[in-house]
Amino acid sequence: MQMQFLGAAETTSGACYLVRSGDKNVLVDCGLFHGPEELKQRNYGDFPFEPRDIDAVLLTHAHIDHSGLLPKLVKHGFTGPIYTTAVTCDLCSIMLPDSGYIQEAEVERKNRKRIRRGQELLTPIYTVQDAVDSMKQFKRMVYDEEVEILPGMRVRFRDAGHILGAAIVEFWVTEDGETTKLVFSGDLGNLDQPIIQDPTAITEADILVIESTYGTRIHEDREDRMERLAEVVNSTMERGGNLLIPAFALGRTQDILYSLRVLQDQGRIPKLNIYIDSPLATKATEVFQQHARVFDYETRTMIKEGRSPFDSPHVHYTETVEESMRLNSVSGGLVIISASGMADAGRIKHHLKHNLWRRQATVLLVGYQAQGTLGRRLQDGAEEVRIHGDMVRVAATIETISGFSAHADQGALLNWLRRFRHIGRVFVTHGEKESCHGFAELIQRELQLPTVVPSLDENFVIQGKRIVRAWDDSYRDLTIPDSFAGVLQVAEGAELEFRGAYGQAQRRYKIDNHLYTLFNVGSARQFFAKLALARVVQVGRLEENVLRSDDPGTNWEEILRIQVTDVAPWEMVRSMVLEPAGLRQSAYYYLDSMPAAGATGYTTTKQGQTVENTYAILAEGFKPQLFVTAHDLKRLWNVLEAGEFLARRLVEMLLAPYLEETLGDALYVIEGKAPGAHVLFGSSSNSGRSYVVLSNGEVGVRGIFEQLVRLASKGR
Ligand SMILES: [Zn+2]
Ligand SMILES: [Zn+2]
Repeated sequence: MQMQFLGAAETTSGACYLVRSGDKNVLVDCGLFHGPEELKQRNYGDFPFEPRDIDAVLLTHAHIDHSGLLPKLVKHGFTGPIYTTAVTCDLCSIMLPDSGYIQEAEVERKNRKRIRRGQELLTPIYTVQDAVDSMKQFKRMVYDEEVEILPGMRVRFRDAGHILGAAIVEFWVTEDGETTKLVFSGDLGNLDQPIIQDPTAITEADILVIESTYGTRIHEDREDRMERLAEVVNSTMERGGNLLIPAFALGRTQDILYSLRVLQDQGRIPKLNIYIDSPLATKATEVFQQHARVFDYETRTMIKEGRSPFDSPHVHYTETVEESMRLNSVSGGLVIISASGMADAGRIKHHLKHNLWRRQATVLLVGYQAQGTLGRRLQDGAEEVRIHGDMVRVAATIETISGFSAHADQGALLNWLRRFRHIGRVFVTHGEKESCHGFAELIQRELQLPTVVPSLDENFVIQGKRIVRAWDDSYRDLTIPDSFAGVLQVAEGAELEFRGAYGQAQRRYKIDNHLYTLFNVGSARQFFAKLALARVVQVGRLEENVLRSDDPGTNWEEILRIQVTDVAPWEMVRSMVLEPAGLRQSAYYYLDSMPAAGATGYTTTKQGQTVENTYAILAEGFKPQLFVTAHDLKRLWNVLEAGEFLARRLVEMLLAPYLEETLGDALYVIEGKAPGAHVLFGSSSNSGRSYVVLSNGEVGVRGIFEQLVRLASKGR
């Protein structure tokens, strides 16, 4: 199989990935390029493949940077199906003809000049009619339903939470009896975005292609944004002016409508007359209303209670140009939302012309303003601007609220990645250069995943899973009992050889275990107390003798408590071990105040029932439990091995009682148990390999640990 990155590689537009398997060719997205001229040129030239040879297209969402070249693809000979969600299909039926209209208008304008100069005339990339024609090839998909699109190729669309109808695409390709799973994130949404659901968590991918628009940035908090919006509305209304909001027709307009409705319902702003003055935004809002069943819970509730953000006596959709022009004679008290979002085209320009010179008016910018646009000039504080050939003095207040974004920011992207149990390889796309590379570095550092930033047109050969899963190839024979829940990891030094996550962390909420789940180490907490004690010995505050006990049942926390009376043992472990060793994910928690990423323990009663381990709170008194991740345990072995954290002599003294012969290897093995927790982690004294089995159940831990040791030595 091959995968080629024909767009959105080290840039944000023109998303287009070509997957080739045998004689089958599938495109994921076919977007229009914008931005620098050398990129825009790609819209005009031939496709870097033969459109006739494409068997199918998988379309993630309706934004033009993902869908905008589909009419061109059809015009140039593509006859196959375009699979996408029903909402995306309906949105494309407005967006693509609109884009065709823009292409036609642009070429017409250019041709007027070319005629005068006697130059050859241009033809548009595609026309309104081309766009309408291409709609016949759209095939509607339902979220979460798996469909075989071609022999050996299955797909499933999942809600990406970006704009209405946007999807993450799961794509299974079977070649020579071996199935590789590709996941395309599409554009991933922001958490708690108005109207839209949160992005669906995906847990498995041999190959993941992820966007990185905001890979290096953090969004402003939603509540701060609402507060600022209320301030801007109120101050404008007090001054008696109009509030103009240039907004993208699809997504942003509906977000703003929603936010204004919420502020009105909360009594934070007065009931206002809001005008949507953009035919495209009006149509997009209609499509939204037809698909209300995919809205998030809050918005569905608002509609049920008769508080629809799109439909109220105060929300007006202007239809005719006359209606739009009538707004120009009103000097105050209106909110006008109009396209384009950067104020460089569309009806918003008329409204700016009639309001910018008014001291009482406000222009509120809620989206990214590109260099060279009217919106950007206003944002940069221009005192005068040219609109339709006339100079207009800027007396109105210009405000910006950032963070109204349909994209996940760095934190949200990382969180989405952390939900995976298995990722073979990551390709970072759909971001500016700094963003792609910055985010790729972050993924490598935080998640230790092999990560690539593909360049434009770069092609990758994927041989089954062999390249993709290079590091866990020898672990294929691992047999994991169905009832096992937990995380496994083998590393050689700092290099990962294998890891996997199984079962559920919280059955009640159906949350799977993933690579960064926190596990209770149970009685292995004693080992950490001993480590803290060794650190105290190292600084000369205690005699070495205190570490000499071979009894595996030694209560090191108790010894620590007796020796260092002024601080609780877990406080000592925190400050003497976790912090200086850089075990940043691990911490102590009380069982009744577990972290979100923590696994609940499941234990079996004498009657054979599996129950949550909450009764362990009583058994353990009010001691906090130590929770760790597999990643931190690897780090701990590396730190001990390096000999800086603790002198080598002390390390040997510390570990000596834990030495055991397992399958011909001399291993230090630390075991911890508690009701609903069983962990084993160890390190070979010869090979430098470390093993971790963390479980929030009580089944199979020792057996799996021994298998890992056997397979690791076999793989040598
Ligand atoms: Zn998008
Ligand atoms: Zn995009």
